[in-house]
Amino acid sequence: MHQIKKHQKPHNLTKEKSDLVRIIPLGGLEEIGRNMTLFEYQNQILIIDLGLQFPGEDMPGIDFIIPNIEYLTNHPEKKILGVIITHGHYDHIGAIPYLIDKLNYPLIYTAPLTKGIILKRQEDFPNLKKLNIQEIAPGKKIILGHFKITPFHVNHNIPDTLGLAINSPAGLIMYATDFKFDLQPIADKPANLSHIIDLASPGTTLLLSDSTGAENPGHSISEKTIMDNLDPIFRHAEGRIILSTFASLISRVQQAIWLSEKYNRKVIIEGYAMKTNVAIAEKLKYLSIKKGTIIKWQEASRIDPKKLTVLCTGAQGESEAVLMRIVNRGHKYLRIQKKDTVIFSSSVVPGNELAVQNVKDSLAKQGAKVYHYRMLDIHASGHGHQEDLKTMINLVKPKFFMPIHGHYSMLKTHGELAESVNIPQKNIVIATNGKIIELNKDKIVATEKFVPTNYIMVDGLGVGDVKEVVLRARQTLANDGIFIIVALVDKKTGLLHNDPEIISQGFVYMKESKELINQTKKLVREIVNYSTSNNAFNEEYVRNNLRNKIGLFLFKKTHRRPMVLPIVIEA
Ligand SMILES: [Zn+2]
Ligand SMILES: [Zn+2]
Repeated sequence: MHQIKKHQKPHNLTKEKSDLVRIIPLGGLEEIGRNMTLFEYQNQILIIDLGLQFPGEDMPGIDFIIPNIEYLTNHPEKKILGVIITHGHYDHIGAIPYLIDKLNYPLIYTAPLTKGIILKRQEDFPNLKKLNIQEIAPGKKIILGHFKITPFHVNHNIPDTLGLAINSPAGLIMYATDFKFDLQPIADKPANLSHIIDLASPGTTLLLSDSTGAENPGHSISEKTIMDNLDPIFRHAEGRIILSTFASLISRVQQAIWLSEKYNRKVIIEGYAMKTNVAIAEKLKYLSIKKGTIIKWQEASRIDPKKLTVLCTGAQGESEAVLMRIVNRGHKYLRIQKKDTVIFSSSVVPGNELAVQNVKDSLAKQGAKVYHYRMLDIHASGHGHQEDLKTMINLVKPKFFMPIHGHYSMLKTHGELAESVNIPQKNIVIATNGKIIELNKDKIVATEKFVPTNYIMVDGLGVGDVKEVVLRARQTLANDGIFIIVALVDKKTGLLHNDPEIISQGFVYMKESKELINQTKKLVREIVNYSTSNNAFNEEYVRNNLRNKIGLFLFKKTHRRPMVLPIVIEA
């Protein structure tokens, strides 16, 4: 035997045989929303999830925020192997219609229910090409470039949620977003811990795990417990039951339907999103509903109130949801009456507390009996609590650990939980959006390199058209109102015709601010006359002077900054 080394080409000698995998979170690490993570090996990219985020109160008029994909669009040499979608919630699927075209329609891999939800939503975007979606299932391996991925089943509050065991050149990466362990779930299979242990047993390099529940002690509540707690409410309710929850909470919808069937109630599903999800889930057999249980409003009038359940959205106090229309007496068929029972079966998303409280108060005033999740365990989070998160780490026994899916404080707390189950601190990476994480079999490095992740905002007009400037203008309008000055200037003399006209909206009430308005008018006259005193009338110059000086004057007087809009007309 002799060696054939000398026949190797020079570039083969110099080419580094690397096992380096880059992990780049484009969203989801500083918020709960817009989840999207890249796994990169050489120039191959595997994408997990394409989610959106709902905007905060400081972003008026913005419908939602989607991940920034400049890193991919600016580097056409990178080859997208495919997109794996973990489950059907909007923070994981919501950006598909906005990004799939820019990504050039890569193949999407996901479970059947998620596929159904994605395709249904896609109907709202008729200009897009047909999506290519391939169904995947727990235990069935798929191979994408150098990545071999085996999905595993996890519980969440929507069926068909998948975790992913990703065999990569850097070793095994376990990806567990949105999960809890539920041994008695509703409309879903129980947690399969042994499958997770099996997949992880060859040795796991890195675990990425859901941090949403990292600040909640104990175990998350089983859906069975929720059912047990809802049962007496259904048993004792003397009139109609109106149960409000998230449209995507298929397991809760199933509970309400089973309990209604148990106590001989017919069910009305109200609201477009809820109806759509129920239709998809029923068609794909994720919901079991007896024939005749679901009825329409036309039949409802003939039914004893004690025999009727209404399932609807609005548990977050959303202004456009069904529950709000009922409360505001704007619903076509339903008015609250005495003996009605209203159940809020979802937690309150932070920021919505006041809106929810207002809805509860209105319902109570109108005579309804109101149950809320704080009073009873009638809602369970879809995310594991501290003990569940520790269990996941113990099952997987990873060398390295990276918390995902949560605000920074949650990631931090999750890191501490990992330490408490013996993951050394130096092996834990708390990343931020856009940070490039470099992984190989025996090292993880959170580099100081970042890819762009600034917000891409979507409003009714389009994607990314809304810039910071527009947003600031909307904030100003929302907070301090608008102040319009109409000045008619004499072409010849450069002086003001008549009094300037002033219109104020959302800033001061004109009738009560006569003095301020008069002072302003006087100042407008001075500014116009001064600005045109050299006889060279320059409309823009007059406008700018008015905007700046009147803005300053109003701020001095009121400590508010309305948007000042001068309209200068030459006549
Ligand atoms: Zn989810
Ligand atoms: Zn999520």
